[in-house]
Amino acid sequence: MQKLQAQLRDIDGKGYKGYKSLQGTYQFQSFKLAIDYVQGDPFASPSKIRIIVPERQFSIKKDWYKSKMRKIYTEDVIARHVGRAIRKNNESIRGSGKSGLLTIDAPGQEILERTAVTIDGEQTTICLSVGLPANGRRINGKEAEKLFFKVLPNILTQSLFAMKEKDIESFVQLADQQEVIREKMRENNWVAFVADGAILPRESGISNRPLKKAVPFKSPEENRVSIDIPYRDEPLTGMALSKGITVIVGGGYHGKSTLLNAIERGVYHHVQGDGREYVLTDPDAVKVRAEDGRKVSHVNISPFINNLPHGEDTNEFSTENASGSTSQATNVMEALEVGASTLLIDEDTSATNFMIRDQRMQELVVKEKEPITPFIDKITRLRVEHDVSTILVMGGSGDYFDAADQVIMLDEYIPFNVTTKAKDIASQFPSQRKDLSESFGAISNRRFLPYSLDTRKGKKSKVQAKGLSKIIMGTTDIDLQQVEQLVDTSQTRMIAQIIHYLEQKGWLKSETSLTELLNQIEKQIDSRGLASFTSRPNEHPGEIARPRRFEIAATLNRLRTAQVQI
Ligand code: ADP
Ligand code: MG
Repeated sequence: MQKLQAQLRDIDGKGYKGYKSLQGTYQFQSFKLAIDYVQGDPFASPSKIRIIVPERQFSIKKDWYKSKMRKIYTEDVIARHVGRAIRKNNESIRGSGKSGLLTIDAPGQEILERTAVTIDGEQTTICLSVGLPANGRRINGKEAEKLFFKVLPNILTQSLFAMKEKDIESFVQLADQQEVIREKMRENNWVAFVADGAILPRESGISNRPLKKAVPFKSPEENRVSIDIPYRDEPLTGMALSKGITVIVGGGYHGKSTLLNAIERGVYHHVQGDGREYVLTDPDAVKVRAEDGRKVSHVNISPFINNLPHGEDTNEFSTENASGSTSQATNVMEALEVGASTLLIDEDTSATNFMIRDQRMQELVVKEKEPITPFIDKITRLRVEHDVSTILVMGGSGDYFDAADQVIMLDEYIPFNVTTKAKDIASQFPSQRKDLSESFGAISNRRFLPYSLDTRKGKKSKVQAKGLSKIIMGTTDIDLQQVEQLVDTSQTRMIAQIIHYLEQKGWLKSETSLTELLNQIEKQIDSRGLASFTSRPNEHPGEIARPRRFEIAATLNRLRTAQVQI
């Protein structure tokens, strides 16, 4: 402690690079400070520090990390508390550039495995970023001293050291509850569960917080199930959607997309108070949408698209600029390739000609002249041959009634099971569509070749996330705007790290399929942690959180530089 103070006084007013000499660890009264990385100037990305608090200063019950999920939740809630305390204290240090600013990678509405906080039997480690204080481009040692010796200890006093057992208990209990619901879902082959009372709509298009004054969810009687979950007197009731084909209908603005969005996000777990904490979905559910303009690399889209004009091969389809229907076909096939077991589709983000084709159009444009086999002709095959379920929002066409196992209608945000009525209507007004369904067709199993990843930028190798939906790899951009289940910028940063790692370690090989590659990545995350993909696995590894395999695959699939073999 004295040492750091002396050093700061010594470098005060000197050139900013002088801060580099601080790299190292320092013992404080109740914690150890590790200064892992020091920024080169006040405007560069901030310095990385860790606060390491020993067990005797902050004791973690064994119970809080006895399962992986409980451990993640304990780490998550600590990060939230530290985040709140930082926000309260951030005004106190000033300087030029981003200097003086402290941040933690605080979680949002989802609870994800992340590196912000880690606990083990011996200590709690908190990873922070800090802009080391500057005056212009000179070291402001006085402010730095205040930062390390006043603000940091203050933050700990107000967060970690102020935490009560119940703060953590409520989080790990939620973990247990969600785990029990998931178990029930597996046992009963439910692909989605939405609890009664859940709040599905969000505050706005740019806010992930619950809408105030929303109509709470109320399950249709036919789908209502009741689950005994721990730490609750009453069983939890709600709507279960079984495996198979679910069509969600209803008038415009009655809440169809809102329900589907909640189901989409249900692959992750949400915090208490989010409104969706008991909305859970098959973790391998993938939203598929149209995404015109995207790059496609050697994907077999022939189950949906054939006989393109100019005789383009759709067994191994590539384009720099996909159309609405080819992009949606690609998104379906890519999801299947890496193991999606449920597809989620919304008419609002679909290509009409990919989804439906009515009798009149079948008559006018004969099959030989129509490259597209619409999804409606494949949906049943997909379920029967590949055991893949679909949850589909479709307010605009009743043609899906025939294929549906169940039809849910939203009426002023309240769902009703209208399967019987829909089936009656289907037999009363038989669709004159020709049934053109044949076997589903082959799913690609592609291999990404080593040259796919060109991370060079000048002499350096660089892969960097820019916000939630963009990664810059070397000199090319990867656009993830339409990858809707990527939900946290720390996931994007993790994917950038993974890409860098794959390239550095030569993990892309002509004999390794994409599926095997993803398995390897997941295995390493499970066994060695997220940080093992970074260049500082034993220090502050950066602000990263766990992405799903589907979003990692989505990134590789959108590489403009991909080299692929099938
Ligand atoms: P649809 O897809 O059926 O056209 P949306 O899901 O887009 O309808 O919902 C329309 C509007 O209603 C949105 O602004 C949404 O936030 C709001 N909304 C959806 N569900 C609810 C609810 N349960 N309570 C209050 N407002 C809701
Ligand atoms: Mg809609």
